[in-house]
Amino acid sequence: MSNFTWKRAVIKVGSALIAPDGLQVSAKYLLPIARFITESRAAGKEVILVSSGSVAAGRGRVMVNHTASIAEKQAMAAIGQTQMMANWQRFFDCPCAQVLLTADDLRNRTRYVNIKNTLRELLTHQALPIVNENDTVAVAELKVGDNDNLGAYTALVAQADTLIICSDIDGLFTADPRKDPTATLIPKVDTITPDIYALAGGAGTAMGTGGMRTKIEAADKCTQSGIQTLIVNGRNGNVFDRLLKGNNPGTLFSAQRSSQKARALWLTHTLKSKGSIHVDDGATKAIVNRGASLLPSGITDVKGRFCAGDAVEIKNGSQTIAKGLVLYDAKDLHKIKGQKSHQIATLLGFAGSEVVIHRDDLVLLDNPHL
Ligand code: GLU
Repeated sequence: MSNFTWKRAVIKVGSALIAPDGLQVSAKYLLPIARFITESRAAGKEVILVSSGSVAAGRGRVMVNHTASIAEKQAMAAIGQTQMMANWQRFFDCPCAQVLLTADDLRNRTRYVNIKNTLRELLTHQALPIVNENDTVAVAELKVGDNDNLGAYTALVAQADTLIICSDIDGLFTADPRKDPTATLIPKVDTITPDIYALAGGAGTAMGTGGMRTKIEAADKCTQSGIQTLIVNGRNGNVFDRLLKGNNPGTLFSAQRSSQKARALWLTHTLKSKGSIHVDDGATKAIVNRGASLLPSGITDVKGRFCAGDAVEIKNGSQTIAKGLVLYDAKDLHKIKGQKSHQIATLLGFAGSEVVIHRDDLVLLDNPHL
């Protein structure tokens, strides 16, 4: 029985499939994946690939007998990235388009819009976008860090309906199948609870950075945004025949009802807060109950060194009530906090916006940990 349909998918392929020996790219596991992509496209579906493997693919050329330094890994990535792209291209007649991103790009509003527009344009022109982290420029705090989460962000920015994570394991099991012979595959997860996270265990393979945990994180981000997520075993060619028939060969995480708008999702999941704005009870009520924008008059304190355009948290005491894109630098907010909007021009010497965070750029947080 068919139980898996989709229109636009992000397919994430991990390093263990691209470079199974951990030293160079290989075609070994890619043919069934490529055929699946080609047949899906021929059936009118849209595909974006998120491919790992640049570091693993370049490792054979930057041999070191110690734990590789950041620069050495970046050199591996620079060498391996072109190998990885070329390895994919040989399976397709359509052009493979290289898209390199960092978390920093996804946090920036202008760059985010550009990424979205470029992906849309590539799909319109029948190209196959192949996304990876821009490993050669990104260091820890600028990175997503693992391609499972990068796959989720890509699905969000591309407004895909499905994320397919091709792993080297069949899906999520009731226990670690490497240690527990009684472990069984869980075909469907309707809600991602702490118990599901608990099943995920720890780190991933020697080649990739992700383990089951990052896959659940990716599924969590996506399903909350109305994007179903499927973990399958990319080493098993049959999996892709089953997918083409509309069957679920792995673990399917059902999409939750998407109640938040795309903008709210980006704000909630992608953007890192650069600081916080503390507000009084009046402003809290206006924001939470009346759907109002944040005005300077309700601000009691400003924390952090953020700039206009950054994401900040809105707090009342210790509770984070909302997150939004601020229209003023922190240093200017210190001057206008608690004041009426009409005084902004006099206090700052320029006429800025009457509101500090516009309602359209603000998302209420039910979950204080987000
Ligand atoms: N971006 C890394 C690479 O291409 C992989 C990260 C991951 O495996 O999650 O080598």
